[in-house]
Amino acid sequence: MLEANLMDKVVALCKRRGFIFQSSEIYGGLNGAWDYGPLGAELKRNVKEAWWQAVVHQRNDVVGLDAAILMHPRTWEASGHVGNFADMLVECKKCNKRLRQDLLIKGKCPQCGNTSFSEPRPFNLMLKTNIGAMEDSSSVAYLRPETAQGIFVNFANVLDATHRKLPFGIAQIGKSFRNEITPGNFTFRTREFEQMEIEYFCRPAEAGQWYQEWIKARHDWYLNLGMRTANLRLREHDKDELAHYAAGCTDIEYLFPFGWSELEGVANRGDYDLKQHAQFSGKELHYHDQMTQEKFYPHVIEPSGGCDRATLAFLVDAYHEEPVKDDTRVVMKFHPKLAPIKAAVLPLLKKNDGIVELAKKIKTGLQKDFFCVYDDTAAIGKLYRRQDEVGTALCITVDVQSLEDRQVTVRDRDTMQQERILLDRLDGYVKDKIKK
Ligand code: ATP
Repeated sequence: MLEANLMDKVVALCKRRGFIFQSSEIYGGLNGAWDYGPLGAELKRNVKEAWWQAVVHQRNDVVGLDAAILMHPRTWEASGHVGNFADMLVECKKCNKRLRQDLLIKGKCPQCGNTSFSEPRPFNLMLKTNIGAMEDSSSVAYLRPETAQGIFVNFANVLDATHRKLPFGIAQIGKSFRNEITPGNFTFRTREFEQMEIEYFCRPAEAGQWYQEWIKARHDWYLNLGMRTANLRLREHDKDELAHYAAGCTDIEYLFPFGWSELEGVANRGDYDLKQHAQFSGKELHYHDQMTQEKFYPHVIEPSGGCDRATLAFLVDAYHEEPVKDDTRVVMKFHPKLAPIKAAVLPLLKKNDGIVELAKKIKTGLQKDFFCVYDDTAAIGKLYRRQDEVGTALCITVDVQSLEDRQVTVRDRDTMQQERILLDRLDGYVKDKIKK
């Protein structure tokens, strides 16, 4: 269900509670760039960790990589980005705003409502820079517009180092940059963002099957992290949307308050990328099958997602308002794995030294494994609300009774149910709840 002001509420909460700030805000901000605050940094790390766990550590057929952002400029000639990585740009004839033609709504300028535009022209999205002391054409470099090419150029290195047999994949997370014509919708479309990409290499005859398996695996990943089924859908690209070399592409889309939009694309790319790099570099990039002595270019399935977009979708999906007594509580129902704070330890009476000491001791113990906080700056009702609003999975309250019976009250964020737990069992209890 689309709720018009949901986005405004999420944006306000992100600022208020330290999830996301405008970049360089004190100077008026920089369009298309955002900073993650203390809780946003935790959330985004958790998203990346959950991705890495699912696609690298919990599989037997994918290895990780962390390639440089700066690459040899020939990379981008081979990949086609220098020639073709462009959006069609139009300029409003009335107010001169520059806009992406395919994102115009009903052919109108969003700034002044005018409907006449200049002839569309291609606008290359790569951000250029110069490397070294000379600023001429020989020193031109690009900030990578995708992490994928770092994987393709390392295909032979990884193969030599790991002796992998097909099928196998290489995964990486990293920053990418695009000079988007119209960044917007908060962190959905930015000029600097982080991608989470996999290139999965397989035998040509098996590409169709792996394409389907990766669509399912990636769709399931969002669902397993608690995203609501009704807010996710798969959209297969029409033939005329596909790159000339691609055999198929399916987007995983999320129902944002501004409409269905792409979170991740899964593409069946054939052997285009390795062939291009072999041709441009003059290097051997075939896969050599030791059994059959066959040499061929593997085909590639590419699940390519955006970390910032996934984080934004998890934020929107988690946002709930619930009536409680005469009030409304705002609660971020993050999956416990994603919740920035796993547990908050709260003393019921901050004037009681014994309670404070025990609460701090509990926090010190738990923080070896989980990110926890201690808070004694308000009454308990207010402390609960504060933690609900940032999605803290559990609140652990220490009271006078705790000093005698060595038990604490643990409150579940979603159900608000409270349980008395023995201190000796607390660590295991929290672990079970967080890992569910
Ligand atoms: P769009 O059509 O929205 O511009 P795209 O199809 O060009 O996206 P890809 O090139 O397939 O995007 O990039 C893979 C993923 O990287 C996207 O699914 C998205 O999650 C993320 N991504 C791409 N561009 C941006 C951006 N400008 N800001 C944030 N994330 C982005």
